[in-house]
Amino acid sequence: MPTSAAVSAREILTGLHDVMAARGSAQAKLSKVVDLIAEKMQSEVCSIYLLRDNKLELFATHGLRQEAVHVTKLRMGEGLVGTIAEGRILNLDEAAEHPAFAYRPETGEEKFHSFAGVPIVRLESPIGVLAVQHAEPRCYEDVEIEALQTVAMVLSEMIAGARLVDGARRGRLRSAGPLRLTGLKLVAGMAKGEAVFHEPRVVVEHTVADDIEAERERVYGAFRKMREQIDNMTKEAEFGTAGEHQEILETYRMFAYDEGWSRRINEAIDSGLTAEAAIERVQQRMRARMRDIDDSLLQERMHDLEDLSNRLLRIVSGRMGTAAQTGLAHDTILIARNLGPAELLEYDRRRLKGVLLEEGSLTSHMVIVARAIGVPVIGRLNDIRHSVEEGEAILLDGDNGSVIIRPNRPLQASFEHRMTLSQKRRAEFAAVKALPAVTRDGVQVSVMVNAGLAEDAAALPMTGADGIGLFRTEFQFLVSATLPGRERQQRLYTKVLESAGDRPVVFRTVDIGGDKALPYLTDVHDEAENPAMGWRALRLSLERTTLMKAQARALIEASGGKVLRVMFPMVSEPWEYEEARALFEDQVAWARKAHRKVPSRIEFGAMLEVPSLAEMLDQLLPRVDFISIGTNDLTQFLFAADRSEPRLAQRYDWLSPAILRFLKRVLDAARAAGVPARICGEMGGRPLEAMALIGIGAENFSITPAGVGPVKAMIRSLDAAAARSRLDQLLRKPPRDMRKALSDWARRHGIVVG
Ligand code: PEP
Ligand code: MG
Repeated sequence: MPTSAAVSAREILTGLHDVMAARGSAQAKLSKVVDLIAEKMQSEVCSIYLLRDNKLELFATHGLRQEAVHVTKLRMGEGLVGTIAEGRILNLDEAAEHPAFAYRPETGEEKFHSFAGVPIVRLESPIGVLAVQHAEPRCYEDVEIEALQTVAMVLSEMIAGARLVDGARRGRLRSAGPLRLTGLKLVAGMAKGEAVFHEPRVVVEHTVADDIEAERERVYGAFRKMREQIDNMTKEAEFGTAGEHQEILETYRMFAYDEGWSRRINEAIDSGLTAEAAIERVQQRMRARMRDIDDSLLQERMHDLEDLSNRLLRIVSGRMGTAAQTGLAHDTILIARNLGPAELLEYDRRRLKGVLLEEGSLTSHMVIVARAIGVPVIGRLNDIRHSVEEGEAILLDGDNGSVIIRPNRPLQASFEHRMTLSQKRRAEFAAVKALPAVTRDGVQVSVMVNAGLAEDAAALPMTGADGIGLFRTEFQFLVSATLPGRERQQRLYTKVLESAGDRPVVFRTVDIGGDKALPYLTDVHDEAENPAMGWRALRLSLERTTLMKAQARALIEASGGKVLRVMFPMVSEPWEYEEARALFEDQVAWARKAHRKVPSRIEFGAMLEVPSLAEMLDQLLPRVDFISIGTNDLTQFLFAADRSEPRLAQRYDWLSPAILRFLKRVLDAARAAGVPARICGEMGGRPLEAMALIGIGAENFSITPAGVGPVKAMIRSLDAAAARSRLDQLLRKPPRDMRKALSDWARRHGIVVG
């Protein structure tokens, strides 16, 4: 049974339908519209204000003085109308008492007391205001406000169609000026292109329904399809492939089956809207309600609901599929909440220039893939999907983590200048990649790369690196829908070793758990309060020995007849290393007995990522063939600063004396014991940091492939002995700003640090 709001809205919509279909100018139609609304709502005044030249201009009125039309103008935020345009619905029995009230004598509005108004919105941005007024002080009923909102929605279609407002073609107010945003640097590099949404947004073209029952059927069908999709996604739990996190899928499910949501959409259809318009109408209403709620958790959920609403819209309008499937027409900056590696790889690489994400973290596998294919990425750009419009120009500076949307000419020119310099620098680095990493005073430095996918290993010869110093075996687990069995693992390791040829590959046993939770390992949840310090990496492997044994067998057999280099992540005490090593040795013994292939030799190593291990080096070093210092984790544990917490990202510096002193002790101990120590993690991939590391005695690095050129260029311009003596001095009496002291020194000595 339709409600009375539905009935009154429907009556107005029927009338609007006729007005819109009739011939005549847009201005004449607006005048008819205000008369119609005033009559149907029995209101003494009905006015429409539209945004033109950044002002809200009275375009049509029934009840106010006609002389005020196109004369009365208010800024955004000014007066009641400006307040409404900013997204606030007002319903006042005494307008003059509202603090924002701004009296405009030319309108003759002093005789009207009550006032209600709603924003007219297009693509989530206000383009005008619809208001009604009465002489008698009274509040409008909720059903009347509802009806006004529904009418405002239909009006927005008509207004945008007639191009009466600023940016009406795109329906966006924000097209006004450039916007600069900063996020988290995920993959360095500079790029420019047009904004393309990974999941394109649907612009509702037709708002008034011709056949209400047909619209209802369309919505039912779309709900069925959407629920099916969500169920499948949840079932497959394609972590990494769907690009959606388990928790988001759960929320999607909750909303997809929410009866309240579908009922509200149905009610909107009852009021005369098309299926698309009804979905959008309900979405708008929820957005308005949420606007005033200061609860970040609820805001998050709102994002989920928006995603789902957009999905429903795409289904109902038959515009499904991602932008990759539609194809990219221009140089593109892709915009998404989050993305999986497979989704990223679907894009045409000639056109895909950069990616902007609302989420994303340095350790995410999609980011690793983007780094491997050279696409700059910035993450944690809150609300980016609502700050930019499809097709708008974007300048992405992944080196600084900044984005400029809708750049003006000076911004564009300065960006292009920097981009040319950066490309020139890159070309220079590319030339250096193949040269030996030897310092000016003849110290040979080993520069290897970090990798995690078969593609990375295949690209090894192009990187100019000496080998793979860290192969993150957990990536295979992260991009799979199900637990990769021994054979699948073995196939990957064989391929990696084949691609690497004579160059060494150091395999790290799985580092899962913590932030790298796997949906198919149900007891490895990321619900722990402190996942980075939780049940992860070797801690987990030593308890889930079946998993570890399968991996050991895969590595042993894949390295048949060759040297197997294997290391264990997050070793906190020497006995953990001993247990892991023993497990491997047992598997070798088993393989020998079973006449399987075995490696010609095994080199065992431990990753030093937990500070406690540094206190036990006298016990550990005699038992290992090498150690690998994981600076990403080590830094977070030394400073007690979560590595994925963006608010701490800039707080502590890798070049702090605390870290450098700590690392120097470890490097000194390893050298004294004759055990090679390799620096892994992001730190070594930055030229200035790598210079400091050489200054404290590091000679082995495993870094991100993009860092090979810049780091080699630094090495080749450095005198290692001079760096050591400078670091000695600086660490004895640390300056307040170590980074500045080091970069000043590098500049004075002509060292290439970027
Ligand atoms: C590290 O922690 O520095 C490291 C290399 O390992 P991951 O980044 O994979 O944790
Ligand atoms: Mg680590």
